[in-house]
Amino acid sequence: KPIVAIVGRPNVGKSTLFNRLVGSRIAIVEDKPGITRDRLYQDAEWAGRVFTLVDTGGLDFVESGDIPRQVRRQVELAIEEADVVLFLVDARAGLTSTDEDVAALLRRTSKPVLLVANKVENFQRTGQLVDFFRLGLGEPIPISAAQGMNTGDLLDRLVSVLPPVTAEEGEPDTIRIAVIGRPNVGKSSLVNAILGEERVIVSGIPGTTRDAIDTYFEREGRRYMLVDTAGIRRKSRIEEAIEKYSVIRSLRAVDRCEVALVVLDALEGVTDQDKRIAGYAHEEGKASVLAVNKWDLVEKDTRTSQRFTELIRRELAFMTYAPVVFISALTGKRVHRLLEMVDLVAQQQCLRISTSELNRLIRDAVLHNPPPADKNRRLKILYATQGGVKPPTFILFVNYPELMHFSYLRYLENQLRAAFGFEGTPIRFVLRQRD
Ligand code: GDP
Repeated sequence: KPIVAIVGRPNVGKSTLFNRLVGSRIAIVEDKPGITRDRLYQDAEWAGRVFTLVDTGGLDFVESGDIPRQVRRQVELAIEEADVVLFLVDARAGLTSTDEDVAALLRRTSKPVLLVANKVENFQRTGQLVDFFRLGLGEPIPISAAQGMNTGDLLDRLVSVLPPVTAEEGEPDTIRIAVIGRPNVGKSSLVNAILGEERVIVSGIPGTTRDAIDTYFEREGRRYMLVDTAGIRRKSRIEEAIEKYSVIRSLRAVDRCEVALVVLDALEGVTDQDKRIAGYAHEEGKASVLAVNKWDLVEKDTRTSQRFTELIRRELAFMTYAPVVFISALTGKRVHRLLEMVDLVAQQQCLRISTSELNRLIRDAVLHNPPPADKNRRLKILYATQGGVKPPTFILFVNYPELMHFSYLRYLENQLRAAFGFEGTPIRFVLRQRD
């Protein structure tokens, strides 16, 4: 998916525009505790194109008072990481010197940049916008993010400059792995540990995504691809900003993978950033394995790993299906085990349950625990079938979809997992109405 970054100085309305453009995406029947709050990125769709929108406003560096410098950093990062940049200026406040700084940076990139003038109140009288032509980025697109005025036109323009859709890459028998996580959790070390042990077939094949360099390796006769090892190995020049922004790199890698290896730091537990990154893999329907790294640095007794697992289950409650492996990228401990888990979850995300088995399971589940009802209606599951894999998706034909409750789907999910496994992979349900 292409990445679209909104840049601009503080208070021009970046977050308002972000929320406006992602709109009210209907959350399907699934809860996402702890990962939808305060997010910096969200998928949006317009005219059939899906893209990931990033609000760089969330990247404001509160600790430093030097706003022009902060803004410049954000813009540099956006130029580096995004496919399209939306440069937001404030029509009410007029042109500022920070805007000019930003424009100077943006004029140098070959990526599409859309100049957007926010807080326009009168779309008949856009004379106030002539100043912005001086930025050398073409005609400003007037909008009001707060009122949602002209944002449709903006989206039309945006979609017209998105890069063309790329086909699924990689060879069919190859398991594509994305190593993701916060900076310094040990992603590079883990990649090196894996590649040090296994036979590297080819390295440095540029992927279809700009800058991404993938590495293929072989292990016990099976082929793997590590997605975007360039992104993992290269350390950005803009050190302070990495902490938040490198998440984008992870998002991009997740899009292209089958299995996400989510790396956590044993010394730091589970942070909000970890939740966002893992949450993305979950939302995208990818299989995941959780690697708790730097385990060599932890003082252990017999219950340490159990306690850590409990912590993970609590903090990443949306992902209790993911196996946890305690590793040391430094010593190589259990890196082998980690790859065995990758194999397992890659296979589990392709599991298919026959329609008869599935319907038998649903019938039993319904007998033990009847579906939700309201005053005069009871939900009936008439028929179920598996609609697809990666992730396993089940279509439920029901009489009243609106009666379905998240907790009941969770119950069905647990029944499916108890019967068939589905280790490491999310499970999805789609409801269809039938009389
Ligand atoms: P990345 O930013 O996620 O790629 O993290 P790096 O691989 O660069 O690792 C960050 C730091 O943690 C480096 O100083 C590594 O040497 C160290 N490190 C990584 N894995 C381990 C580990 O398993 N044990 C210990 N003790 N240190 C590690």
